[in-house]
Amino acid sequence: MNFRVNIVGAGMSGLALAHGLHRLGIEVAVFERDPFPGARAQGYRIQLDAPGLDGLRRCLPPELYESCLATAASPPPRVTVLDQHLKVLADRAVSERARSGMITSLAFDRATLRQLLLAGLPADVHYGAQFATYDQLPDGRIAAHFADGRIVAGDLLVGADGVNSAVRRKLLPEAEIEDAGLRLIYGKIPLPDPAAHAVPDWVFESIFTVVKGAGGTHMGVGPVRNYVACLVGATTDHPCMPSFAEMRRLDGPNLRDLAHRIIGTGHHPDIDRILGSWDTATLIPLRISTSGAVRQWDCHGVTLVGDAVHAMSPVLAMGANTALRDAGELTLAISAALESGTSPHDAVRRYETGMLEYSSALVAASRRTGQERVGQR
Ligand SMILES: Cc1cc2nc3c(=O)[nH]c(=O)nc-3n(C[C@H](O)[C@H](O)[C@H](O)COP(=O)(O)OP(=O)(O)OC[C@H]3O[C@@H](n4cnc5c(N)ncnc54)[C@H](O)[C@@H]3O)c2cc1C
Repeated sequence: MNFRVNIVGAGMSGLALAHGLHRLGIEVAVFERDPFPGARAQGYRIQLDAPGLDGLRRCLPPELYESCLATAASPPPRVTVLDQHLKVLADRAVSERARSGMITSLAFDRATLRQLLLAGLPADVHYGAQFATYDQLPDGRIAAHFADGRIVAGDLLVGADGVNSAVRRKLLPEAEIEDAGLRLIYGKIPLPDPAAHAVPDWVFESIFTVVKGAGGTHMGVGPVRNYVACLVGATTDHPCMPSFAEMRRLDGPNLRDLAHRIIGTGHHPDIDRILGSWDTATLIPLRISTSGAVRQWDCHGVTLVGDAVHAMSPVLAMGANTALRDAGELTLAISAALESGTSPHDAVRRYETGMLEYSSALVAASRRTGQERVGQR
């Protein structure tokens, strides 16, 4: 069938979807705003559980899926919450399937995973292609317009362009993105390291550990293959928290000093040991956003996947999981339409109905957990 798909955004969901559609024999191209892969630090550790791993498996050729798995770490599949004196407040297995030993939750390095998805992708990926807007042509196809004046037409335009999605802004101008009221300082502790003994053993006993601090602050640590991802977070009304614009102007050592001021004093000495072993060159500030309610749209030819339609705070580590699930579900829906000779646009609509149902529940659950655990708005 002659069906061309243009995907905006070469993040996790856009690349996985491009693989899935390419394997169906569909002509697909990806348009990415960044000038080249790795142009900016996008984050470090990504935990994938059943939804994300299933989505990835649906989209990728089996050998590429196995190559991705081979890069991941598999720390014990439990999430632990400690108080600032390291007393256990909660300790839970990350999923039923993990509990029954059927599947492990895995900790990937985001950059490595993205590199693998890109290297193995036979479809065209265009860099320096900032999507601006789209319009519908008289024959029903969608013409995507880019900042450099390029116009590319296709039967389906997919917005996989993340939380500030320009595709969503055009499709659903009323959809709101809310500031979750949380700011993070995020970086890596390299392993092995001359100071590796600075990372205490308890860090490796869970796939992710949250240490709740005084005044609504928290520290999160999660082991990956050759580093430990470590973040410090607090609410925007914390007395030491500068504006996000100011945070973005701070260099690594100043971000580390800010993290120390935010975390304060009176905690277990392990916390200072961990923060002292951060590689300051890797530190980045992050602002956390969450999607408001999204209604189903009525535009044949344009759809959304991932954070573009359901940004959620990272407390449940479900954002990328759900983005990859979307890629898998959309691939499956279009595949079924091709096999039965029915309309792919109807299949896309069925994907949207299902996706909005499961993702709105996860956005709400992430918000609730964020409010309980880390003071999210
Ligand atoms: C600290 C932190 C930790 C997290 N940990 C986890 C975790 O462990 N597990 C998990 O499941 N989720 C996690 N998440 C969430 C996860 O990072 C996101 O949900 C995921 O990256 C969404 O993928 P995406 O493909 O939808 O969007 P993105 O990864 O944001 O990709 C969007 C792409 O679109 C491009 N783009 C944007 N605008 C345009 C434009 N106009 N034109 C062209 N291209 C454009 C961007 O450059 C980018 O490459 C975490 C988030 C944070 C902040």
